[in-house]
Amino acid sequence: MTSTVMEIKDLALEFKVSRSIVDVIRRRPGKVVRALNGVSLHMEKGETLGVVGESGCGKSTLARCIVRLYEPNRGKIKFRNQDIFAADFRNDRSYNKRVQMMFQDPYSSLNPRMTAGQIITEALSVHEMRPPAEIPARMAELLDLVRLSQDAAEKLPHEFSGGQRQRIAIARALAVEPEVLIADELVSALDVSVQAQVVNLLLELQERLNLTIMFVAHDLRLVRHVSNRVAVIYLGRIVEIGDSESLFSNPAHPYSQALLSAAPSVDPDDTSGAIRLEGELPSPLNVPPGCAFHVRCPYKTENCTRDIPVLRLIENMGEVACHNAEEIAKNA
Ligand code: SF4
Repeated sequence: MTSTVMEIKDLALEFKVSRSIVDVIRRRPGKVVRALNGVSLHMEKGETLGVVGESGCGKSTLARCIVRLYEPNRGKIKFRNQDIFAADFRNDRSYNKRVQMMFQDPYSSLNPRMTAGQIITEALSVHEMRPPAEIPARMAELLDLVRLSQDAAEKLPHEFSGGQRQRIAIARALAVEPEVLIADELVSALDVSVQAQVVNLLLELQERLNLTIMFVAHDLRLVRHVSNRVAVIYLGRIVEIGDSESLFSNPAHPYSQALLSAAPSVDPDDTSGAIRLEGELPSPLNVPPGCAFHVRCPYKTENCTRDIPVLRLIENMGEVACHNAEEIAKNA
């Protein structure tokens, strides 16, 4: 039986861009970056939800909203049915423990003057996870859990490799016994062989600790490897979401099709070519009306330039935000 841990409804976030002196002199109005434009999704207990899209599409902004680093202008995020931005809950620190974020660059998120042992110990003591006398043993257990040797406790972050630093970041996140991990480009900066080790460790820990994970990444092969379900995001909107295997083998939205076809294939016999998209990713300062993908879509029809397509469940596909998804599938 599944149980919903996180529910996100119609999330929108705009950032005001500060005006240049020329803008002020010419009395031009300030510009607004529309980073998220109505994102809705849910996460089930124990699953990994992959979130993919080009850089600048809003995936990291979404991750930061979930851990309350950004507050959305519209919409709701519910954790176990509790609105995380509600006045009576926003200062509840237990949420910060239960939902932990891990970043791409652990070097900047680990204090360079603290040893790995001190970093993990700090997380255990600040959140009062164990009585003080039990903290050293728990710290040693966490190092074991992420497969770092016990002498790692005495070393500073610069003495570790990138993969080892990510293991420290994982140990620190696990120190507070979270239910949900948000992994934002967790392994993007690592070599391919190290990526596999860290990702496999994460999967093993997920099973052992029954964690729910949001895996935000632009590497589609990795996302396919780790995710039960995948959400494809384009200019701050989810355009397709569904079961990982069916979405990867049979993407329905034209953007998902182009994104997946451009990814290097794991199959050496795969000779299918990449679908070339017209034009560049539009700026989030100027999101096109209607379907934001229409300026690049080979299947656009007149209503695409006018009406925003909503995510809808389509038979034999996942949920797709495209007016013409059925026609496109028929002619594939
Ligand atoms: Fe293309 Fe129209 Fe579908 Fe958007 S709604 S992806 S423009 S066919």
